[in-house]
Amino acid sequence: MTMSDIKIGIYGGTFDPVHLGHIRSVYAFLTACDLDRLFIMPNYLPPHKSLCPGDDPMMRLQMLKIAFGPLPFYNDKVIVSDFEIRNREVSYTYKTLEHFKWISNDITLLCGTDNFLNLEYWRNAERIFELAKIAHIVRPGTYDESDEILQMKDRYRDKYGATIIDVPMAPIELSSTEIREKIKRGENTSYLMPQSVRDFIDQYDLYGEHNA
Ligand code: ATP
Repeated sequence: MTMSDIKIGIYGGTFDPVHLGHIRSVYAFLTACDLDRLFIMPNYLPPHKSLCPGDDPMMRLQMLKIAFGPLPFYNDKVIVSDFEIRNREVSYTYKTLEHFKWISNDITLLCGTDNFLNLEYWRNAERIFELAKIAHIVRPGTYDESDEILQMKDRYRDKYGATIIDVPMAPIELSSTEIREKIKRGENTSYLMPQSVRDFIDQYDLYGEHNA
């Protein structure tokens, strides 16, 4: 196998903080797409959403490293990448893909439903569809999921020649927003994130439990 044949997955997001939905998605993505390497890519400045006041990207990165560091069944396939954070600019996915295309011409980008449905509005969307296959994981939400998702899949294929892959996963209704709120209220987060990540959050009082 040459370098350009390796199957690379990219999973971007804010991960503020990383939670069970993300962790299960990584495993589902690795398995469904039979990836050689999966780069988890926390953004520096997301173009499409605002960060929490006082956001520290290095803390988001560190939490991912704590979450994914000690899981032996991932072998050395999962890499928490500081590529976007190191660039210190608005994190556009097409730019990240342009960089990774030098490593492999087989790249798959993972999106949960909320991101998947908005993909067309991302900067240089047509280039994103050209550079990567899109893996979609259903994220439970308030929208009429199945209809809207099907329509979008057809649209992306017809209009952009996109390759779309369904990644099966038991739905997990959970967001970082919900976790931040629980932490602020001093609530338990067992089963929603690794205890090691929660300990790190408490150590640095990241979401204001002690200021609430
Ligand atoms: P926030 O609540 O702060 O908006 P979030 O929980 O949506 O955060 P992100 O870091 O924005 O987390 O998400 C990164 C990626 O993970 C996105 O593609 C998103 O769709 C996906 N994702 C997040 N939570 C889930 C979940 N529970 N199930 C499936 N996919 C998810």
